[in-house]
Amino acid sequence: MNIVLMGLPGAGKGTQADRIVEKYEIPHISTGDMFRSAIQEGTELGLKAKQFMDEGALVPDEVTVGIVRERLSKQDCEQGVLLDGFPRTVAQAEALDEIMSGLGRKIDHVINIRVEHDELVKRLTGRRICKECGTSYHLVFNPPEQDGVCDKDGGELYQRADDNPETVNNRLEVNMKQSEPLLAYYGDKGVLTHIDGQQDIEVVFEDIDRLLRGN
Ligand code: ADP
Ligand code: ADP
Repeated sequence: MNIVLMGLPGAGKGTQADRIVEKYEIPHISTGDMFRSAIQEGTELGLKAKQFMDEGALVPDEVTVGIVRERLSKQDCEQGVLLDGFPRTVAQAEALDEIMSGLGRKIDHVINIRVEHDELVKRLTGRRICKECGTSYHLVFNPPEQDGVCDKDGGELYQRADDNPETVNNRLEVNMKQSEPLLAYYGDKGVLTHIDGQQDIEVVFEDIDRLLRGN
């Protein structure tokens, strides 16, 4: 099953992605995570992406589509994938359709997790992420058992540089504008489902799981 996960920053994509890939045993492909690890490792891709990410701008399509194309051709993607943070533009969505059809596959579901603005601001400013495994926690809504430490692997929790009150509003606005044409694109194709993301984490997952099981 090939799934695209959509939703504004803070909607809970990463949180739900962890649960989906565990249950459906498919790889989680997050372009944001791929760029962040490339920057950490100091690779050529990281150098290309960093300047755009620092400005909160999109990395150019030729770079982004290129890494997704390469990733999707790997063997572990044959049974399906969960895409998170890609596509972000209609041009990327068209490129994805072309890549998938070249591989004899298609996008089965586009899931849009919906959460209202004020709640997104609270979620982003309280978010903490494990340095080792990338799991998302929240200081209030989803705290780890021990302050500052990941429940899964004991990794140190950090705050993303762009999760601060000054930049969050701008990120949300830019993202909202970008996502509108994409939602229209997938709406027209009849593969889009909206999920209420303002429920408890496990309830949101139950709704997604029900959709994927086809009920
Ligand atoms: P995204 O990947 O869409 O940016 P995350 O999965 O990182 O979002 O979640 C953003 C923040 O909100 C995290 O701190 C996470 O723990 C918290 N969160 C995720 N889902 C929920 C939920 N259903 N209710 C409350 N908080 C949530
Ligand atoms: P957010 O949800 O806060 O935008 P992501 O982790 O998805 O966070 O992305 C972080 C940054 O990585 C983006 O601001 C952008 O610079 C870059 N990026 C991620 N995905 C894409 C994409 N599909 N196209 C272009 N740039 C991307």
